[in-house]
Amino acid sequence: MTLTKKIIIFMVVGALLGLTLNLTGLNSNAAVDLYLINGLFHVIGQLFILSLKMMVVPLVFVSLFCGTTALRDPAMLGSIGGRTLAFYLMTTAIALAIALSFALMIGVGVGADIATNPGYTPKESKTFIEVILSIIDNPIKAMAEGNLLAVIVFSILLGLSATMAGKAGDQIIDFFKAFNEVIMKLVMLIMHFAPYAVFAILAKVFAELGVDAIKSLAGYFFTVLGLLIFHALVVYPVLLKLLSGLNPLMFLKKMEGAVTFAFGTSSSNATIPVTLRTVTERMGVSKSVASFTIPFGATINMDGTAIMQGVATVFIANAYGVDLTTSQLLMVVLMATLASIGSAGVPSAGLVMLQGVLLQVGLPIEGIGIILGIDRLLDMTRTAVNITGDATVTCIVAKSQNQFDQAVFDAEHAGEIKE
Ligand code: ASP
Repeated sequence: MTLTKKIIIFMVVGALLGLTLNLTGLNSNAAVDLYLINGLFHVIGQLFILSLKMMVVPLVFVSLFCGTTALRDPAMLGSIGGRTLAFYLMTTAIALAIALSFALMIGVGVGADIATNPGYTPKESKTFIEVILSIIDNPIKAMAEGNLLAVIVFSILLGLSATMAGKAGDQIIDFFKAFNEVIMKLVMLIMHFAPYAVFAILAKVFAELGVDAIKSLAGYFFTVLGLLIFHALVVYPVLLKLLSGLNPLMFLKKMEGAVTFAFGTSSSNATIPVTLRTVTERMGVSKSVASFTIPFGATINMDGTAIMQGVATVFIANAYGVDLTTSQLLMVVLMATLASIGSAGVPSAGLVMLQGVLLQVGLPIEGIGIILGIDRLLDMTRTAVNITGDATVTCIVAKSQNQFDQAVFDAEHAGEIKE
């Protein structure tokens, strides 16, 4: 059996168990909650997510260094960077355009009962200028804080310098190549624990899920969910086919594993090791391209998050009876694009950044309190969409730069992990 199949089975069983605990009311039993849901399930799930996070900074740093030195060409790096950024922005713009038009068309949130919903305490969110300034930093600090943009910049600069530094550079390059292999080995070892972790995570999420909350927010919930699925299953495949000629069905099939990880962890960052492995080993993208585009995408490209932010803004406006003007709508597009870029690839980040969008268009940020209760399930789904977007653009860019091995992409079982 492949690892992905095993993960999916464990995931479904975990979700069913959680749902059973929820529907039978066992989840409100103090002992079940303390020892099982917030004890065993929580610890197993978190240990796994922490192990993936443990790998992210070393993996991004080392693999991007190796990727940069393998290219040996700053101009090529510039053109990969430029194209990647352009495609990332384009997919986000498409996501927002579809999300906003659909949400406005069906009038999501009109007549929603908001009076009974809990209050919301705003958290600090970064301004766009702060995001720009955080691109360069003390590398040790950036690594410790998990500031991936600064790690990316440092790694590329160091890689470029290594290619210019003659013998000393070559020595370092050899060391990093070996280091990269060792890190990938550890990633593989950790991935074998995924089925048990995903079981525990899903059991906890579904045990705590407010089924009633979903019912009262069904309009919002299913609009976001539907749009996320549409984006992943229609928009990306069409773009992939049009811009790279690759077979979308093969692409989606090979994304299965990474999507399950994203769904389980709700974190694009924690999923980086898996997404990176998927596009290189399973799809044939060169490591030089993927080691840049995947961590970069996990940090700035969040189409799923943008969809949620677009729909949430319209929902909150409608719920509070505010009519959005055309200029406010344009502001939503601009702010949600920036907010999705600024959202870190960690759970709930998109919700925190939504504050910025609401503030700019003059909507009450307390509105976030309404959708907070059901955000977890949407967070899981939008994270899966976010990383599918990263992988789509990665394939398109790699193909256009001849950094793509078609034979690997066409081989259905390439890079599959067996149990
Ligand atoms: N959890 C999402 C991610 O990691 C970000 C978000 O909250 O929308 O991609």
